[in-house]
Amino acid sequence: MSAYSFFQGVEKYFDQAAPFTGLPQGLLQQIKGCNAVLRVQVPLKLANGDVEVLEAYRVQHSNHRQPTKGGIRYSEDVNQDEVMALAALMTYKCAVVDVPFGGAKGGIKINPKKYTVEQLERITRRYTAELVRKNFIGPGLDVPAPDYGTGPREMAWIVDTYTALKHGEIDAAGCVTGKPVNQNGIQGRTEATGRGVFYGLRTACSFEDDMKALGLTTGLEGKTMVIQGLGNVGSYTGLISQKEGGVKVICVAEHDGAIYNAAGLDVEALIAHRDKTGSILGFAGATQLATRGEALELECDILVPAALENQINADNAARIKAKIIAEAANGPVTPEAEAILLQRGCLIIPDMYINAGGVTVSYFEWLKNLSHVRFGRMQKRFEQKAYENIINTVESLTGKKVDERDRAIIVRGADEVDLVRSGLEETMITAYHGIRNTWKSIAGLNSLRTAAFVYAIKKIGNDYAALGIFP
Ligand code: NAD
Repeated sequence: MSAYSFFQGVEKYFDQAAPFTGLPQGLLQQIKGCNAVLRVQVPLKLANGDVEVLEAYRVQHSNHRQPTKGGIRYSEDVNQDEVMALAALMTYKCAVVDVPFGGAKGGIKINPKKYTVEQLERITRRYTAELVRKNFIGPGLDVPAPDYGTGPREMAWIVDTYTALKHGEIDAAGCVTGKPVNQNGIQGRTEATGRGVFYGLRTACSFEDDMKALGLTTGLEGKTMVIQGLGNVGSYTGLISQKEGGVKVICVAEHDGAIYNAAGLDVEALIAHRDKTGSILGFAGATQLATRGEALELECDILVPAALENQINADNAARIKAKIIAEAANGPVTPEAEAILLQRGCLIIPDMYINAGGVTVSYFEWLKNLSHVRFGRMQKRFEQKAYENIINTVESLTGKKVDERDRAIIVRGADEVDLVRSGLEETMITAYHGIRNTWKSIAGLNSLRTAAFVYAIKKIGNDYAALGIFP
């Protein structure tokens, strides 16, 4: 499928960017490699008394900032190379969105669908205990989060196990993010990656020059979108892009097939259908495509691969017609495919930027855990009263009354979710401008991805310089 393993692919992208950073070879080498790789065996006792031994990993790519941060993946395809690649991407991602963490990633080689909830709980707790034992987890060391095949439920098991083993540690809740809100999580984390994809796409589509080059107009309204993978990231990307951006989602692909409707699929109704029936197939008004792979090759403005890596590769790249590819998944486009797509003028918005909403809001959750107070708790009523005073003053000065509905909107103080979304929006806009400015200001940069790497590597280089490691 690709001449490069996933990690080699990330290294290749790094190497393309390295000459544009002006950093010396030794420092580049220090940034590029994985700092620590933990491989552990997780034993699971089965009902018949046998023991199944599961392969599990945690990789810390860079410790130039502490803690390190990155999700935990449950998938049959997990292997050391994949976890190393994902950990490396986390380092660059954190740098791109100005989140002060090093990159890490974890994974267990299992298909979670083949295990009972009780077994998954035992696996997760045992894996956490191994991480504690090896000092690979802790609010100041390494902070996991959800990824493919895991979610708030697994994060709750992790924090509970950690807290039990580290009884009395005041900041224990910050040992993992993506927790349920009632378990020291944060409002807006579950939707964060998909919402970040939406903010990123909206920003990318706001540049007239870039849209013109693609034969598109600015703005998201009316643009057609195809989504591969209706999991956490894909479903929120679709929902929010449709509701808040006016995007038309014409096709969704899942592991068991793909459905299409040129007039647009109602993503909310589709999710409800999938939750009820267990599949997206059979959704009213949609046609099923012959194969799920065809979805990627449809004529559309925006293609959102939101499943796994290597989905767009040398085999299918020449048939892909999308004008914009938003890499919601990590590593969905191989280096060979990227060369073909760039040749055709496709705008690839790289994973390390476009799916960084998750780690951004994870950072907010970690800050909340360390401060032990919900965002908005201190200022909400104060703001509300201040706005009320302003309106009352305006009313008494003008002798006119503000409409009750408008008053309610104006005087509302920010809740936690408002602040989280605001911080995420600001982050995604600022980071896109930073990457795009790099892209436009350095001659010879062939893509937004190379620009994102240059932007990230330079920031990490500066961190090392500030640490005194370099020169
Ligand atoms: P998820 O497990 O919630 O969803 C993935 C979905 O993809 C599942 O519904 C699965 O059935 C589907 N799928 C699997 N193979 C497929 C195929 N060949 N064709 C179509 N659909 C397929 O996982 P997620 O958390 O949404 O993660 C998806 C991707 O996004 C991963 O690459 C992950 O690393 C990346 N990501 C996730 C987050 C996060 O916050 N969850 C953050 C950043 C990046």
